[in-house]
Amino acid sequence: MSESCLFCRIVRKEIPAKIVLENEHVIAFRDIHPKAPTHVLVVPRTHVATLDAATDARMLGEMQLAAATIARAEGIVEGGYRTVVNCGADAGQTVLHVHLHLLGGRKLRWPPG
Ligand code: 5GP
Ligand code: ZN
Repeated sequence: MSESCLFCRIVRKEIPAKIVLENEHVIAFRDIHPKAPTHVLVVPRTHVATLDAATDARMLGEMQLAAATIARAEGIVEGGYRTVVNCGADAGQTVLHVHLHLLGGRKLRWPPG
């Protein structure tokens, strides 16, 4: 845990968030600036800054499985959806607590900008 990390503070419920799924491994909540009708962030309960720093395969797998579970609950499986992990400056990572974006509910362009 990191005292000042934004997502650690959401994990600790010090900062409110619209939580859509919680289990022993991850917490998932709606992005404050949604880029699609469904835009959910899935974060591990344990603080890891970036994907590059992540070593726990179970944790990373639980993040993907949580995203798939949420996609079913959101009704976006038929239309399709995307999961994205931004790592580092060129990818636009702004919060240094590894997180997976679940995006869906509209046609998504490829490749991303
Ligand atoms: P990144 O750019 O690091 O991949 O994604 C960080 C995401 O966190 C952004 O999409 C941003 O909108 C979201 N975000 C930043 N601050 C907050 C917050 O306080 N609450 C929530 N729910 N999302 C946040
Ligand atoms: Zn953190």
